[in-house]
Formats: sequence, structure tokens, C-alpha cells
Amino acid sequence: MPSIREVGHSSFLINAQNVIDAGNILRDLGEKSVMLERVWVTHSHLDHIVDLAFIVDEYFEKRTKTLKIMAHKETIEALKTHVFNNTIWPDFSNIPLANGNMALSYEAVVLGTTYSVGEGQEIQAFLGDHTVESLGYIVSEGDNAILLASDTHALGHVVSIVEEDTSISTLVLECSFPSSKSELASVSKHLTPVLLFEGIKPLEDRVLKLYINHIKPSYKKEIIREIEIRKGKWDVSILEEGERIDF
Ligand SMILES: [Zn+2]
Ligand SMILES: [Zn+2]
Repeated sequence: MPSIREVGHSSFLINAQNVIDAGNILRDLGEKSVMLERVWVTHSHLDHIVDLAFIVDEYFEKRTKTLKIMAHKETIEALKTHVFNNTIWPDFSNIPLANGNMALSYEAVVLGTTYSVGEGQEIQAFLGDHTVESLGYIVSEGDNAILLASDTHALGHVVSIVEEDTSISTLVLECSFPSSKSELASVSKHLTPVLLFEGIKPLEDRVLKLYINHIKPSYKKEIIREIEIRKGKWDVSILEEGERIDF
């Protein structure tokens, strides 16, 4: 059964070479991070990119392959302008590794394109709904697929993708705020339990496994209590750090 693993805040390890997002993944991967070749970034917010800076830096001498940042073109512009700008952090796209390969490169993800991520595994992106340009990803292996929406507000697009793709068996959706903070959820383009379960209602009769992540720690108890009340027929798990997701 194919699987991916959550490694640190908002990061999902597809295999040794590919990870979705890079929030605090080094504390889990450590030196194994030298194997990483592509980070599939959802969006430019710090909790999803913070370890991009350190993956290339901390084991610099041990790296042999270029770390390729796969992202929306606006996310790439944001990373170039605000992170790897020689002020906040070196521009590693201009710094060669010992073997001459550049330490970092960027590639804009093309919507509608299926990318191979090795040994029968594939990934494709879809547009998200967040305060900055964002991507969600579908990872598939054989007849099985998992959809990871990342930070999102409106769920209509996710629902139509899942309705059209019967191979998707598992969803990873965020739930950042309790429903009592719905205004905050709207302005920051996140979800609450009410918004989440209303949004995915059209998929209720499809037998899908639902993992929930991106819960703000200070609201964790309240959100979990609310999810229990509102989950209806859904098979729900709260995603914990280090957890493996079979799909
Ligand atoms: Zn965000
Ligand atoms: Zn986030």
C-alpha cells in the first residue's frame, strides 16, 4: 500500500527524494535530508517554507544534487525576492556545491501536468484558495491517490476534483480555527470545522479517509471536540507529526 509521511509542521515526505512543503522537516530527517531533490511547495507562507533555507545550508558539504523548488511562479518570485535574496539568506541558486551542481534551482509547476516522482509514483498540482497564490497536490501510485489541499478556504474546487477522480481515496485537509473564529478564518483564508464539513458535504457518500492537519495549537482541544460533533459519516483522523498515511 502506498504511503506518505508527515515530517514536521506541514510537510509530507513522498519518498527520500521528494517532499511536499518544508516546514521544520530537518528535526525529523536530519542528515537524510541530503537525499532530497525536489520540494513541492504549496505556498510562500513561512510555516511551509522555513526549512528550505536550512536543507541547502546545514548539510551543504554532503549534498551532491541540486535542490529543486517546485512551486507556483508567484511563490518562486516570493522566495527569490524575500528569502534567498542575499539579505535574509544567501541566493543558493548562484552557489555551486562541491561537484559543481548549483545548490538550488526553481521550476514553476505547470497545472495539468503529471510529474513522475519515481517508482510508479506521480504528482500533479491544482490551484488552491488562500491569501497568496497556492497549490494543492494529488499524489498517486497505481490506482490509489491522495489529495493534499494545504491551507485553503473555499473547497468547491477540491470537491469537483475528487468527484471526477475515483482513484482518490484519502484527503488531507486543514482546519486552522474553531468555528467561533469564523471571521478570522475568512480573512486569513483558512477553515473551521463548520466550513470544512459543509464544504465537503457533496463527498459524504464516497468512502474516503479524511486526515485533518494545520490545527492552531491554542485551539486544538476546541477544534478536536468540534470535529467529533460535526464529523457525521466521515472517517476522520487528526494528523500527528511523524504519522504515516497509507492510501
Ligand atoms: Zn498559509
Ligand atoms: Zn500554513
